[in-house]
Amino acid sequence: MTTLDTNDVTPLRRGFAGTVFTAADDGYDDARKVWNGRIDRYPAVIAQVAGTADVATALAFAREHGLPVSVRGGGHSFGGFSMCDDGVVIDLSALRAITVDTHASTIRCGGGTTWAELDAAGQREGLAVPGGTISDTGVGGLTLGGGVGWLTARHGLSVDNLLSAEVVTADGMPRHVAADENADLFWALRGGGGNFGVVTEFEFRAHPVGPVIELGLFFWPLAQGLEALRFIRDTVATLPPTMGAMLVGLNAPPAGFVPPEVHFAPGYALVVAGFEGPDQHAAVVAKIRRGLPTAFELVSPVPYLALQKMLDNAAPRGVLAYEKSLYVEELSEEVLDVIAEHMPRKASPMSITPMFLMREAFTTVPEDATAFGGPRTPKIAVNLAAMALDEQLYLTDCEWVRDFWTALTPFASSTSGYVNFMTEYDENRVRAAYGAEKYDRLALIKAKYDPGNVFHLGANIRPAVVV
Ligand code: FAD
Repeated sequence: MTTLDTNDVTPLRRGFAGTVFTAADDGYDDARKVWNGRIDRYPAVIAQVAGTADVATALAFAREHGLPVSVRGGGHSFGGFSMCDDGVVIDLSALRAITVDTHASTIRCGGGTTWAELDAAGQREGLAVPGGTISDTGVGGLTLGGGVGWLTARHGLSVDNLLSAEVVTADGMPRHVAADENADLFWALRGGGGNFGVVTEFEFRAHPVGPVIELGLFFWPLAQGLEALRFIRDTVATLPPTMGAMLVGLNAPPAGFVPPEVHFAPGYALVVAGFEGPDQHAAVVAKIRRGLPTAFELVSPVPYLALQKMLDNAAPRGVLAYEKSLYVEELSEEVLDVIAEHMPRKASPMSITPMFLMREAFTTVPEDATAFGGPRTPKIAVNLAAMALDEQLYLTDCEWVRDFWTALTPFASSTSGYVNFMTEYDENRVRAAYGAEKYDRLALIKAKYDPGNVFHLGANIRPAVVV
């Protein structure tokens, strides 16, 4: 562990508006905690910045001392990429100011904001920005890699709704990026991940949503295996275009709407979120009810904010977690066979396999409009997540995830999948996730704004060698 001398850190503290933690300070251990309980890293310094000037100061300090840098948004990445050993963490958690412009239907938020905070502020004005499905995820990491959630079919990815950003690049320069200013950097930020700088503020286009939406959650036990999976496949193919939908392999929660004998039982859920009012939703629900009897269902109008938090308890902070993901173009018979074979083998009741439908509005954005990796064709992001509070269960299910993933790979349209769902990276996988053309374009932009590869943790795009 790198321990800096007090004298080394004093110049950083001087003139720093935020808070600086070293191992000697109270609060250091809390500040180095992230969502995944497996991550236990010891940075030399955690610089909790109060604004762009602090970011520049922290970057200069890291450069001067030859220390690696990581950037903490919501601290929610599976791989814990916001925390580095022996380096400088630029912690954005104090940057959470949110401004909603109801006339322009835009929302600005600080680089350390969580989706729970952004959603709450937007909903006070009846607005929402397409985000993810777990509310304490950071807006930062989720947006920079893409951003898939309940509103993807209706309004596209989070990046498709990004209008501008304030970024501090590796040289310490604050830059405004938008379609008409630093356009190359603006393009790269919309999917290129945390490779290009520290985003201190995001500005999004927001949409009228809620405040109440229509929820439908239908659960079938594992015993119904293939029959349930086929039914879910056929149902999602006929859903109204803007409806949010997810297929999840999981254990039933011990909730009031679940019969006691089904509590904790493993099975398959189809979750649909209707944004177009009760009539459309009622038609979908009636069709599902006619189709295949469930072990339980929850059909109810719910606040949009409740939808956004619905899965939070399934992925609590501190859980031991590992994941692998890939894309499939369709839920073919072969894919369903693999799912039906592997789901019953998981050991931990917390392990979960959310499958995100990427369709409609996602597919209407031109391929080169953003840096988001992979083609804008309809697809399903299959996410296989081992989660447990117990080390042995966790290790057992890491193997389960690897076996499951390997069995699915012959049917995948991309085994690299979505960069935000990757725990382990190497350059070939990252290149494959973006495709050669996009990766090369990103590498040239990286060479312009971060030639020394300061921002290198996570799905790293290496700077192109420019001769
Ligand atoms: P962090 O770990 O803080 O950051 C992740 C990366 O982004 C790091 O490299 C960091 O340096 C960089 N970064 C973060 N903020 C900034 C910033 N402001 N400026 C520059 N770089 C920054 N993704 C979805 O799209 N949809 C989902 O529904 C979804 N559900 C998830 C559920 C769980 C339980 C988990 C663990 C992840 C989920 N994800 C989902 C993936 C999520 O998008 C990524 O893990 C994302 O990186 C989290 O962002 P963060 O800011 O919280 O993470």
